[in-house]
Amino acid sequence: MSKIAIVTGGTRGIGASISLALKAEGYQVAAIYASNDKAAKAFKDEHNVETFRADVSSYKSCASAIDRIKDKMGAASILVNNAGITRDSFMHKMDEDMWQDVMKTNLDSCFNMSRAVIQDMRDANYGRIINVSSINGQKGQIGQTNYSAAKAGMIGFTKALALEGARKGITVNAICPGYIKTEMTEAMPSEVLQSIISQIPVGRMGKPEEIADMVSFLASDKSAFCTGAVFSVNGGQYLAG
Ligand code: NDP
Repeated sequence: MSKIAIVTGGTRGIGASISLALKAEGYQVAAIYASNDKAAKAFKDEHNVETFRADVSSYKSCASAIDRIKDKMGAASILVNNAGITRDSFMHKMDEDMWQDVMKTNLDSCFNMSRAVIQDMRDANYGRIINVSSINGQKGQIGQTNYSAAKAGMIGFTKALALEGARKGITVNAICPGYIKTEMTEAMPSEVLQSIISQIPVGRMGKPEEIADMVSFLASDKSAFCTGAVFSVNGGQYLAG
């Protein structure tokens, strides 16, 4: 029986590439999405990947999604916490919703989803949790106090849960992508994008597949000795120690 992998935000952008990479590795993939039914249906129809609608910012919604996935597919061995949003603004213009939405969707989601799968992983003495953080959680970014805080929080979460899971065969790692070509970055003004590319030593943005390849490795048995680690995939833009 092939292992079951859950990918949040798994029907679009980086998450879609992650779902496809894990499917190609032979996992049964459950891709969670928020509200874009059209994109999810197109993804399911084209790639034959199971999709589940859930709000990762809600504890109850995550618990119910995991129940549905367990009923239909079985208990997950791999969880990729990829879903994320930005609500950019300078601090002096940021309202409470912008702060809360970003914290809940990027950071609370890691608790909500991990809490719902962790007992099954402990019972199985096996698990892989991979958290998609960001370069901006490592270095900070102007206009992103909310996002930088949430993504930095994911790194602390990763390290603490890695320690808890270590004796139970559960590894927990974080990936910090640099700027990757997706709808999220395509929404940025072109002059901002050009200025970002000029700061990337390899001279280009990353591809979603380049994040998916790192996830494939961390999901595999080959990564068993990697835990609590933070993997930068950023074209040399920020050289975290
Ligand atoms: P996209 O905006 O392209 O896709 C986001 C996905 O997350 C969608 O599938 C969306 O669902 C889902 N999603 C959003 N909110 C929720 C929610 N509340 N509940 C469930 N699913 C939700 O994002 P990217 O592919 O660009 O980014 C993926 C991850 O990578 C994010 O965590 C992001 O912060 C991180 N990242 C991205 C970078 C980049 O350059 N793109 C750089 C560094 C990090 P739906 O389709 O229904 O809207």
